[in-house]
Amino acid sequence: MARNRRSNIADILAARSVIINDIDIEPHSCGELNVQCVSCEAKHFLGERPPDRQFTNCCHKGKVELPPIKMCPVIEDLMKNKHPPINCQRIFMKMLEA
Ligand SMILES: [Zn+2]
Repeated sequence: MARNRRSNIADILAARSVIINDIDIEPHSCGELNVQCVSCEAKHFLGERPPDRQFTNCCHKGKVELPPIKMCPVIEDLMKNKHPPINCQRIFMKMLEA
C-alpha cells in the first residue's frame, strides 16, 4: 500500500515535470461553421460532413423534425431588434447616481 502511494506520487511529480512550450503547439481550427444541412439548415463544420453529404447529428438525414422553438415574446423582440429605442447611457448614469 505504501509502495503504491509512493509510486502514485512519483507518477504525479513526473507528469508535472513535463513542460510543454505553448509556442510549439499548432493552433487547431475547425474552419467556418457554414455548411448547412439540406434538411434542417443546421450549421456544421466542413469536417463534420459525412461522405454522402447528409448530416446525421442534427436531424438524422431529415428523419427527425423538431417542433418550432417556443420563445418568450419579449426575448424574441429583443433578438430581432424590435424594441423601443433606449438611451443606455442615460440609464447607466442613473444607476451611477443611485
Ligand atoms: Zn439536419
